[in-house]
Amino acid sequence: MAIINIDDLRKEFELDDGVLTAVDDVDLTVEDGEFLVLVGPSGCGKTTTLRCVAGLEEVTSGHVRFDDEDVTDLRARDRDVAMVFQNYALYPHMNVRKNIGFGLKLSSELTSAEIRERVEDTAEMLGISDLLGKRPRDLSGGQQQRVALGRAIVRQPEVFLMDEPLSNLDAKLRSEMRTELQELQHDLDVTTMYVTHDQTEAMAMGDRIAVMNDGELQQVGTAEEVYSSPANEFVANFIGSPSINRFAAEVDDGTLHGPGGFTYQFDDPSWVEGHDEVRVGIRPEDVSLVESGGNTAEASVVEPMGNENFLYATLGDRELTARIASTLHPKPGQTVRFTFDEAALYLFDAETGESLKTKTAETSATVGDYVQTEGESA
Ligand code: ADP
Ligand code: MG
Repeated sequence: MAIINIDDLRKEFELDDGVLTAVDDVDLTVEDGEFLVLVGPSGCGKTTTLRCVAGLEEVTSGHVRFDDEDVTDLRARDRDVAMVFQNYALYPHMNVRKNIGFGLKLSSELTSAEIRERVEDTAEMLGISDLLGKRPRDLSGGQQQRVALGRAIVRQPEVFLMDEPLSNLDAKLRSEMRTELQELQHDLDVTTMYVTHDQTEAMAMGDRIAVMNDGELQQVGTAEEVYSSPANEFVANFIGSPSINRFAAEVDDGTLHGPGGFTYQFDDPSWVEGHDEVRVGIRPEDVSLVESGGNTAEASVVEPMGNENFLYATLGDRELTARIASTLHPKPGQTVRFTFDEAALYLFDAETGESLKTKTAETSATVGDYVQTEGESA
């Protein structure tokens, strides 16, 4: 096992018409045994970062260390890492046993008997013992993905690097494999960097989540931290489904003026002191419909979820999403009134997008309190 230390990592690609910075001075430490998920939109530099850690890509500048060893200039095969990709390309002419054991045979000095034992232990762990004699073409997508995982696990590496390994699976299988992978990683206790563009997957799986955009690391934290206390508007918008409501507002004497006649007078005007304009964020679950008072929006669509409804409404030229009780069905075109707690409001700098205010402790403390109480009574 190892601590992965990524220090000022930069990767530029020379293009015909200039230089593309795929990884822009990223600093990141993955703790020993941690499951860290690197998440961000397509093209933001996740794969390139992972390939630099694996040794498949030469870095432009910066360092990668495993514990105290600088591995920046080591070839991939000399780093103790195992990678799992989205396209797991098994050897079609080899059975599962050979597919899993092949890498070991090449790279280790284990005897055939030892390899056999390790392959069988790995297959057992993955629940594919009965498939060892089969060829890849006779396996389902999920089974093939397990074999690909087996190839990585059997090597007992210090570090797992996984790049969207579940993307090719259908939704149900993907969520099953998520849980399995987490359990497996937990049992094996191998430091893992896992890449996905899917924020739900990131939130569900990561001990911590590293959010990336445009080559730059935006924030690293637990699911709760990046959700409740995003570093900036990008993170606030990327994390959470349905997405946070956002709009620009002018500030006048402690009062916000936004689209569609939106106004809000702060109890604590110091939040907006010194700002003429801010960006406002309100999570859909923090929007409450009320009979009177508050602000108005025009309902457009209601999507029933069973346990709740998603209301899509318009606020001037912006869309407003609210998670409301399943018993509430505003009609399209109907005017709805809504309020929110000041504590739940997010504010972002209009120019830089940096957070000026995130959900305050009162609204986000519930989970932490629960964990603490549990710990104390144990
Ligand atoms: P992600 O995995 O987050 O989707 P990538 O790391 O694959 O993003 O790519 C980051 C950026 O670097 C993209 O703009 C991509 O086009 C570019 N890129 C990746 N690999 C190369 C390459 N070998 N040559 C040139 N540009 C590349
Ligand atoms: Mg990628």
